[in-house]
Amino acid sequence: MEELGEMKELLLTEFRKKFGIEQGEKLREAIAFAERVHCNQRRDAGDPFVTHPLTVASYLLKMGMDAPTIIAGVLHDTVEDGDNITTQDLEQRFGKEVSRLVDGVTKLTKSGNQTYITKKQEQTENLRKLFLSMAEDVRVVIIKLADRLHNMRTLAYCTPEKQARKAKETLEVYAPLADRFGMGIIRSELEDLSFRYLMPEAYEKLRAEVGEQQQERMDALKSAMELMKKLLSEAHIAGEVSGRPKHLYSTYRKMQRNNYKLNELYDLIAIRIIVETVNDCYAALGVVHATWKPLPGRFKDYIAMPKPNMYRSLHTTVMNENGIPFEIQIRTREMHETAEYGIAAHWMYKDDKKVMTELDKKTSLIKQIIETEETSEDSREFVENVLKDFLGEYIFVLTPRGEIIDLPVGSTPLDFAYRIHTNVGHHCQGARVNGNMVRLDYKLKTNDVVEILTSNAQIGPSRDWLSIVKTQSAKNKIRQWFKRENRDENIARGREMLEEAAKRHGQNLATLLKPEYYNTVMQRMTINTLDDLYATIGFGGISAGQVLHKLLDLHRKEQRLEEINRQLEEAGKEPAKPTRRTSTNGIFVHGDPGMAIFFANCCNPLPGDAIIGYITRGRGVSIHRADCKNAISLLKEPDRIIEVEWAAEEKSSFSATIRLRVVDKAGTLMEVSKVLMSLNVNMTSLQSRSTDEGDAIMDMTFTVTGSEQLKIILNNLRKLPEVIDAFRV
Ligand code: MN
Repeated sequence: MEELGEMKELLLTEFRKKFGIEQGEKLREAIAFAERVHCNQRRDAGDPFVTHPLTVASYLLKMGMDAPTIIAGVLHDTVEDGDNITTQDLEQRFGKEVSRLVDGVTKLTKSGNQTYITKKQEQTENLRKLFLSMAEDVRVVIIKLADRLHNMRTLAYCTPEKQARKAKETLEVYAPLADRFGMGIIRSELEDLSFRYLMPEAYEKLRAEVGEQQQERMDALKSAMELMKKLLSEAHIAGEVSGRPKHLYSTYRKMQRNNYKLNELYDLIAIRIIVETVNDCYAALGVVHATWKPLPGRFKDYIAMPKPNMYRSLHTTVMNENGIPFEIQIRTREMHETAEYGIAAHWMYKDDKKVMTELDKKTSLIKQIIETEETSEDSREFVENVLKDFLGEYIFVLTPRGEIIDLPVGSTPLDFAYRIHTNVGHHCQGARVNGNMVRLDYKLKTNDVVEILTSNAQIGPSRDWLSIVKTQSAKNKIRQWFKRENRDENIARGREMLEEAAKRHGQNLATLLKPEYYNTVMQRMTINTLDDLYATIGFGGISAGQVLHKLLDLHRKEQRLEEINRQLEEAGKEPAKPTRRTSTNGIFVHGDPGMAIFFANCCNPLPGDAIIGYITRGRGVSIHRADCKNAISLLKEPDRIIEVEWAAEEKSSFSATIRLRVVDKAGTLMEVSKVLMSLNVNMTSLQSRSTDEGDAIMDMTFTVTGSEQLKIILNNLRKLPEVIDAFRV
């Protein structure tokens, strides 16, 4: 236990130095609490379990995290492992902030109902939880990263299966996550440890080779480093000069990707110069370039243009007197901390505005992703999107005005154009990269300056763009454009079809297309505009014949009524008025007293719908929508058809079913639900399925007060970009 005692003392001492005696007492309490909870547990290596949370806390301290995070680090496994320890207990003892952080970590660690889900699903779900908690409080994820780092460092004691699984997960999730948060030092170590367990042979081979070469390089650079120190002090620049070996996994990746041999890499060793101020950075660069010849195209100013993960430094590659190229990185102490600990360093330099903006951007990106994904039924798509768009490998390109845009590796000028603005994408005609015209499928590289040439003559995207663009968002935008485009085609086709149908019946469409006719027809079908009506005909949602018959019907009725009224007028009588008789269910039945009335199940008529009554054999009058298929066949028995209409007061609620054709992506249901919620509509059933064309069909039933409300609902749903079509069924 000697070691454990030392460990506790060291952590406490360092912690007190930074946060004071009072906070130190809280930490001491937390340690005692964790010791009690974990007293019967051991690590795989045989150590008392509590060494693990203590180590995690010490990492967090070293990263510069705040006191609550470090205390939560000590407690991070107590709720998970302790019997009867709840978040409430922690809140009472250590306060809300600490307990919330522990709760976040616990939620991440706890896997769901393992009897139901596969390992893969479990991982996916864990990942989803990870991102959710990240949006809540990014410190939860930093604790998790420290936890993972310690577990990876002690992975040697696990079974080979567990080693491989953890290493893979670390390489796929935690290392990229650390990178996106700019936590370079953690990323490097997580990668190297994963590399070691996933590809032990390649790892050992490279380590041996690199070890030899690095020593040679280090020796070769010794004189350069000495000279640099001397020159800096002569120039009155206070700075540290050190040699830094590149970490193994990134060396491995670089060799794999570019087919390089080890001795072709310039940056096996980099010289790092750490100075006090930004001005000193540029002054030191001046000294470097005055002493050694810089290699063209290798100078990068990440101070003026920081990487999106907040990394700042000057990079240059120079040649020494023996013709050996080597890389030099120049940065301030603060930039150095940020490069190593990324957003964790934010707690060290809280006033750093740049860091804060980047942090905000990042969390808002995560929030966006999560908000759109909240209702997705399984999290597979969620995770794929996040991995692709958030953790994937990035390039950084520039707008002509010098703004940095990050895009996934493999992105094209079209992706860039759509990222700038949807309309820039749609009207993109060509692109210049670094001043030269390029093809639209050109693969952009980091530091490319991209200029998009647009033209209004370019009416929209072409279909083959779908196979050119790399980002999901550009793809979606192009697809949506084509959906809208089809709509125009559908409108034109629908109008033609209706005209032809009219011709077949010896009618002129123009006389039938009176607003009072088509508005009535559209109202019955809850269609909004004449274009919508054409489009519905065009894509086959309703037949042209059906619409024509309704128009004709209205036209004839009007003619008949005009005729009757003319005759009445000639006879000197009042114009005809319909007779009314009150009845049940908000329905007036003309001419027939006291029959039972019920709504047909086939078409669920709503107040406002045109309806007919059918006198059933012994069950009273069934009410159908006038356009109901069954009702149309019932018309064959004209004696049983009875005229009915809606009473003024409406029945309070009716059931209605609608069908939506939507863009098949997670988040769509969420948008639809939001609309229904905002309209106070209760959904009673929902069925959804994907189509072969990449759309999805949603059938939903809810209660409404009448066709007016249904119309409002449909209109609002149609406004959603996700909704391609919405109609009543
Ligand atoms: Mn742990």
